Amino acid sequence: MSDNFSGLSITVLLPAGRLPLDMMKTAHELAEKYHFSVYFSLAQNMRLINVPESAVEDVKKTLSALGANFKSPGKFPLPRICIGKPYCNLGVVDTEQLSQKILARFGELKNVKAKFKISIAGCTIGCSWPQNTDIAIMATRRGYTICAGGKGGVVPRVARRIKRRATEAEVLDTIAALVDFHDRKTKTKQRIYQLLDDPEFPFPAI
Ligand code: SF4
Repeated sequence: MSDNFSGLSITVLLPAGRLPLDMMKTAHELAEKYHFSVYFSLAQNMRLINVPESAVEDVKKTLSALGANFKSPGKFPLPRICIGKPYCNLGVVDTEQLSQKILARFGELKNVKAKFKISIAGCTIGCSWPQNTDIAIMATRRGYTICAGGKGGVVPRVARRIKRRATEAEVLDTIAALVDFHDRKTKTKQRIYQLLDDPEFPFPAI
């Protein structure tokens, strides 16, 4: 398929990595009908790749009818989560529930400036790579550890710890403060690590 790439991509957002069965079935049928491929990315989304241009409208309309939400600029980033409790024996928290709470509070924000990511890990092992994410939330048996400013890339950075033993309410308030600060200090896009040394950065390293 990749040798004959000529189509477009459509990215369907999958909060907490969950794919409703009706959407899975319909995406399968559409893929067969229009001969495109399906890629599950590491960012909690399903990317339909090599979709013929002539099919894009039908694919979007059909999946929209099932509640599909598509990736587009200005949307609040879906938290990248590990499977967490109760599906992982080591999980301290239900990561899906925390993701839902974050999206319930921030998901409707408009014109969110790029380019920060959020990661949630159900324990300190960190299977969702919180340590190199802009806003990292790790559950521990004594509350949440929150870090900021991690990134991957050619010059990776480990996120700086800014909160320990935080409650869930504090997690949400910390995200609010970071998103607000990022918005105030960013023209169009910026990773959070670029703001860590700003004298007004709202949280000290701990
Ligand atoms: S981070 Fe912890 S809870 Fe999450 S999948 Fe990995 S081991 Fe399990």
